[in-house]
Amino acid sequence: MEKRFDGRVAVVTGASRGIGYQLAKALGAAGAHVVAVARTVGGLEELDDDIKAAGGTATLVPLDLRDFEALDRLGAAIFERWKKLDMLVGNAGVLGTLSPLGHVEPKVFDEVMAVNVTANWRLIRSLDPLLRQSDAGRALFLSSGAAHKCKAYWGPYSISKAALEALVRTYAAETRQTPIRVNLVNPGPMRTAMRAKAMPGEDPASLPEPAAIVPALLDLLAPDCTDSGRLYDFPSKEMRDFPQVVS
Ligand code: NDP
Repeated sequence: MEKRFDGRVAVVTGASRGIGYQLAKALGAAGAHVVAVARTVGGLEELDDDIKAAGGTATLVPLDLRDFEALDRLGAAIFERWKKLDMLVGNAGVLGTLSPLGHVEPKVFDEVMAVNVTANWRLIRSLDPLLRQSDAGRALFLSSGAAHKCKAYWGPYSISKAALEALVRTYAAETRQTPIRVNLVNPGPMRTAMRAKAMPGEDPASLPEPAAIVPALLDLLAPDCTDSGRLYDFPSKEMRDFPQVVS
């Protein structure tokens, strides 16, 4: 039986746990070849087992997203093997520490910006030529309500997600005349390691499991998705527009 993503190739960052793991697993089960990126080899191997058990295939890429030259090599390796890329999911993210701006360690600020912003730009830079070779290139990036709320003590994370949204909307504008579709997702609170770090007093059982958002993410990655430059807000299940400036 034909599967929804048969013959398609997807890069998923942050595939070793949480939302990225569940999405990568579902893409593999739906026929996509998953290029799974994260640092934790054990998590990637567990994902590989799950994908194989569902009859799918994956390539494991253990790397630190702050190794920007490795992201260039990733593009070259995908070109070598497939000559195209159908899906880029920029899901990996870090929270940093929650503290007043004046107390944030510079190395923490730099890490949050490197993983949440610069790595996604470097991925676009490396993989855009391959997405353009696809008949329906899709790029999806995980943002957060923090990009807009700007709560006290969440500085580095909020700043990074606001910058990520500007990056992704710019990429959407630059690909508007192509088959590529580029969107953002705010998953809302999800039962993951990142959320537990942010809210240690919260009962994880009160939150949705990351698998709950996967069907919506698959729709945004599907060749028949027509949205671009929009934000899917999981708690409200709305596709939100950003103010457009027509030039
Ligand atoms: P998790 O902490 O569960 O997973 C984060 C993933 O990112 C892991 O696979 C981790 O892999 C990877 N990662 C982090 N740093 C690096 C790095 N330097 N190099 C490579 N990979 C890295 O997070 P979630 O699943 O909760 O979050 C996924 C996305 O959703 C994030 O962008 C987050 O900001 C966003 N989000 C999550 C919310 C929530 O409530 N969970 C709410 C709003 C937004 P490894 O450590 O193995 O490298």
